[in-house]
Amino acid sequence: MIRRGRFAPTPSGLLHIGNAFTALAAWLQIRQAGGTFIVRIEDIDISRSRVAYAEQQLDDLLWLGLDWDEGPRVGGPFGPYVQSERLPLYEKALERLRAADQLYPCYCRRSELASIASAPHGLSSEGAAYPGFCRSLTDDERRAKAALKEPAWRFRMPERELRFDDGMCGPQSFDGAAMGDFVVKRADGMYGYQLAVTLDDAAIGITDVLRGADLLDSTPRQLALYEALDFGPPAFAHVPLVVDAEGKRLSKRDRSITLASLREDGVAPERLIGALAFLAGWIDRQEPVSARELIPSFSSARTAAKDVLSINDELTKFIRA
Ligand code: GLU
Repeated sequence: MIRRGRFAPTPSGLLHIGNAFTALAAWLQIRQAGGTFIVRIEDIDISRSRVAYAEQQLDDLLWLGLDWDEGPRVGGPFGPYVQSERLPLYEKALERLRAADQLYPCYCRRSELASIASAPHGLSSEGAAYPGFCRSLTDDERRAKAALKEPAWRFRMPERELRFDDGMCGPQSFDGAAMGDFVVKRADGMYGYQLAVTLDDAAIGITDVLRGADLLDSTPRQLALYEALDFGPPAFAHVPLVVDAEGKRLSKRDRSITLASLREDGVAPERLIGALAFLAGWIDRQEPVSARELIPSFSSARTAAKDVLSINDELTKFIRA
C-alpha cells in the first residue's frame, strides 16, 4: 500500500517555527516511506482565512524544501485540495448523518455557553464540553426554539470510552460522554473543523495523519465521525509542540518566529531545519541540513521521546547565525 500523508494549514496567519516542525515531520514520515504527500488549505472558516496567507504558506513550505504531489498549484494556481471548494461534500455527509439521527439542532447562544468553565486541560481543540441542553428536546420544544433562531447542528458523541493507539503518544483513551457533542455546522452555515477534516482525509485517502499534540483530543471526535460515516480511519500521530525559552506555546502574534520574518532576515532554511532536527533527536549534532538530506534520519520513536521541543536562546542564535 502506498502511504498518503498531508499537511493542512489554516490560512488565518503566517506559518511559524512550530508549524514548520509539524510540516517537516509529516513530510519526512511520508518521504521516508516512499508515499504521496498532500497539502490542503483549510480555509473553511472564511471569515478568518485570507488568500494572501495561503499563498505565503505555500511559498514558505517550498522555501523549507517541502514539496507535495497533490494539492494547491499542482496542475493550476489553486485546487484541488482547498476546503472552500469542497462544500458540497460536507453537505452530503451532513444529510447522511442527519438521516441516521447522529445530529441534532442546537439553539443555544454563544453567550449562554460562555459561562461554562473552559476545559480542564490546556490542550483542547474544542473548548469546554457542551452540556447537552438541546440533546433531547421534544418536537414541540424544537418548534418553539426554531421560531426564534437558526440552529447549529451538533454531532452526538458516543457515550463510551474511545480508544486509539497514537503513533507518537502511545495508547489513548477518552471518555466520549465527557467530551460533549460538537458543532458540525454553525448557525451561520459554516461547517465545523472536525467534520471537514474527517471528510477530506477520508475522501483524499489519507493513511497517515501526523499533526501537533494540540489536536490530540480532536482524534476521538474524528474517530467517532469515521465510525458514524462507516469510513476506515487513518493512523494518527501527534508530534510534540514547539515552545519558547519560557516553555510557552509559540504564538502566531509573535512575528519574530514566523517563517516570513526569518526569510526577511536572510535565515537559511537549512539552519532552521537543522535546529528542529536536532531538537527532535533526528540528528546528534546541531548543524545545517536540508529537508531532503534528513529523509533517512526521521524517527518516530526519537520524536516520541520528547515532551516538548524548546527553542532556547542558543538554538535561536544557531538559526539566525
Ligand atoms: N488546519 C488545522 C490547523 O491548522 C490542522 C488540521 C489537522 O492537521 O488535522 O491547526
